[in-house]
Amino acid sequence: MNELEPLIKSKNSLEEIPVKNRSLQFQNLYMHTCSLIFTKCNHNIIYDYIDIDVEKSKQICYCDICYLTIDADFICNFLLFNLDSELKEIWKLHVGNFSYPLKNIYKQNNTVKLSIISDNNKISTFDFNPEDFIGCSVYQRVVILN
Ligand SMILES: [Zn+2]
Repeated sequence: MNELEPLIKSKNSLEEIPVKNRSLQFQNLYMHTCSLIFTKCNHNIIYDYIDIDVEKSKQICYCDICYLTIDADFICNFLLFNLDSELKEIWKLHVGNFSYPLKNIYKQNNTVKLSIISDNNKISTFDFNPEDFIGCSVYQRVVILN
């Protein structure tokens, strides 16, 4: 049986508890569920605009199969949840044929920022769109982007 459908059901069920009322363990279970969905779903990405107020609207990106919102917030949480924080000193980022020591992960506006140490021993920061992480793999201390 396909695991995706029960996972989506369980995500929906977990969302019945408002974020502010969730215990840490509950939030971890929720994040684990979302993270499995993110890696298992063959996402069909939809771009939409939501109104923030009468004059402003912002673009959102979601999947119409699993209904995950793929934004910088989610991706940063996903990466930090799946990387082992105790191994932070030896985190690595693989992009194509390149591999860099990965120093930091943060978001700015809706951009995912990955700070790495480049060949000349300087800290550089790569900017990614949240959608760039669809299909990425995270193993313990390594982020692999295709
Ligand atoms: Zn999906």
